[in-house]
Amino acid sequence: MRFDTVILGGGLTGLVAGIRLQKAGKETAIVSSGQNALHFFSGSFESFGEPTRELADLFSEAGIHLHYQEGVRLMPMGTFRPSALSLEDISLFPNPKFGNKVLLVNIVGYHDFFSSFLAQGLEEAGMSVRIRFLNLMEMGIKTPGEMRSVQLARALDRNWEKVVQEVRLLLKDDDTIILPQVFGLEDASIPGRIRQSLPAQVVFAGTLPPSVPGIRTLHLLKHRYEVLGGTYLMGDEVVQAHLHEGVVHSVVTKNLGQHYLEAENFILCTGSFFSKGLASTPEKVYEPIFGADVSFLPDRSSWYNPSFAEKQPYIGFGVCTDECLKVLKEGAPLSNLYAAGSILGATHPELGMGAGMCLRSALKAADSILEL
Ligand SMILES: Cc1cc2nc3c(=O)[nH]c(=O)nc-3n(C[C@H](O)[C@H](O)[C@H](O)COP(=O)(O)OP(=O)(O)OC[C@H]3O[C@@H](n4cnc5c(N)ncnc54)[C@H](O)[C@@H]3O)c2cc1C
Repeated sequence: MRFDTVILGGGLTGLVAGIRLQKAGKETAIVSSGQNALHFFSGSFESFGEPTRELADLFSEAGIHLHYQEGVRLMPMGTFRPSALSLEDISLFPNPKFGNKVLLVNIVGYHDFFSSFLAQGLEEAGMSVRIRFLNLMEMGIKTPGEMRSVQLARALDRNWEKVVQEVRLLLKDDDTIILPQVFGLEDASIPGRIRQSLPAQVVFAGTLPPSVPGIRTLHLLKHRYEVLGGTYLMGDEVVQAHLHEGVVHSVVTKNLGQHYLEAENFILCTGSFFSKGLASTPEKVYEPIFGADVSFLPDRSSWYNPSFAEKQPYIGFGVCTDECLKVLKEGAPLSNLYAAGSILGATHPELGMGAGMCLRSALKAADSILEL
């Protein structure tokens, strides 16, 4: 099977690069073996400033609306973190005291939303908080067998109006309502409709993974990619690559076996350690498909910071590339293999970090291929 570009890894980076290339008329395929960081996504794109027109259009054409405001967002444990570019249902505030009287609504039997930690954080920020519980059974909503965020979101998306009615009954003189982020899994408009239907500011607070806004983002980007004609090979894994004299000719996947995927160009977006884009032995960190050069600290004892909460050096390890993001192998660039996203670690500080770096590098790799 032959494509213009084959993309390895279908997380945020692979999908953004794929959409960019499909929009430019290229024929691409994405091979993606499984779960990716969007399943854990907070909804805020770290280190990305105001979105460019191109990026805002790319997302809004997929049905994902972004907003940009420098400020802080509420974290699942009641702390605050500086954030700017975010999905539209993620509230951003100029400072942590975003209300006076807060009604914090949890759900009976749902253990992945830490209302008491949240209340403590909000009180420390100067707000008074009442915690109340919705009993879905009593509200006539069939409760999912497993009360995890995704199952709950499926049940609540069909019943969000009942939730609004019940929250109205709980409301006194509160100026703010906090709800868990378990709305809008398949219909991105639901968080906005809930906001419009309630007479106080509504803030959706993060839950334990999986992340409902993250999975929604993944589905919408994947759908957009496929509408543009892209081929998404879900649940398949690239296990080998064929290279000759600095050129990648094809890759081999578990499911397609002898039917190699051939292309003019390839983009490596297989993520960092978390997604197995990088792997390690006690002696070294390596990239398993192409044997690309990897930047890491030679002394293993310096890979980790023993203090869990501190910055971890291994997060900065990544595949080495030239300035066009062409992957280096034994010091020389492979002519048609680019790397983008979290597999780069901190090797390109000019691109930023987190999801911001993933977006910038995905567009840059696609633009290098398009020679823009
Ligand atoms: C748990 C977690 C949460 C994060 N949350 C945030 C956040 O809220 N905000 C933020 O700014 N940044 C966050 N980040 C940083 C994160 O790296 C980026 O946000 C981004 O989503 C990473 O995207 P990616 O596509 O580069 O990699 P990934 O999302 O890791 O995707 C890589 C994909 O490649 C696939 N893959 C791997 N090997 C192969 C193979 N051989 N063949 C085929 N497919 C393969 C994997 O299965 C996976 O689906 C988070 C990172 C992690 C690990």
